[in-house]
Amino acid sequence: VEVVLGLHREEIERVRAAYPCLLWSETVAGHALEGSFPVLHGGKEIDAFSVRIELAKGTRGFVPRVLEVGGRIPRIADRHVYESDGTACIGLPEELLVATRGEPLTLSDFLDGPVRSFFLAQAIFECEGIWPFGDRRHGDDGLHDFYEETFGSRNPIVIGAYLKVLRSRSVRGHWPCPCGSGYRIRSCHLSEVAAMRRRIPCAVARRLSPGQTGPQ
Ligand SMILES: [Zn+2]
Repeated sequence: VEVVLGLHREEIERVRAAYPCLLWSETVAGHALEGSFPVLHGGKEIDAFSVRIELAKGTRGFVPRVLEVGGRIPRIADRHVYESDGTACIGLPEELLVATRGEPLTLSDFLDGPVRSFFLAQAIFECEGIWPFGDRRHGDDGLHDFYEETFGSRNPIVIGAYLKVLRSRSVRGHWPCPCGSGYRIRSCHLSEVAAMRRRIPCAVARRLSPGQTGPQ
């Protein structure tokens, strides 16, 4: 699952105006923005990080990578940076996918939202030693946390059953409930399943990772 950004001319102009310290360049893959990313808190700039943000053109839009390039944030999982390539762990793609109901985020929404939160959290962690917005874990662990919040279970069989129901074009009340109770949906989690299907459309559910690596 990837975070996908929509990017058109007006959007580029908006970002240039809002982030004058980020310089744009063309790359083989798409665009790169490099420079100083302001950390705003209560409307005031309290800090800034040296960043490089790469936007690679994909089939659904632009796929972003965010890197802190000033050597200030250690490239370790405990600081929410992927050790393999140094990219920032900007929230869980599955979570953003569900939040936008599968539509691409605008670059402004991405920078003003998860990217700003990431660097604000880093600045606060440097000073206070705590993560201000909680500390969701990375990769598969983070995915299990997300599915536990969404489906109320860490069990890969239950997660798989919920995903199967969400991915179906229509749901029948006589199907076994994905919670694993052994009851039919109509006499178990009927209203919860209906609410989930409104929140997570079929097309979005089909793009979610299966989360099949199992609970630890
Ligand atoms: Zn149930």
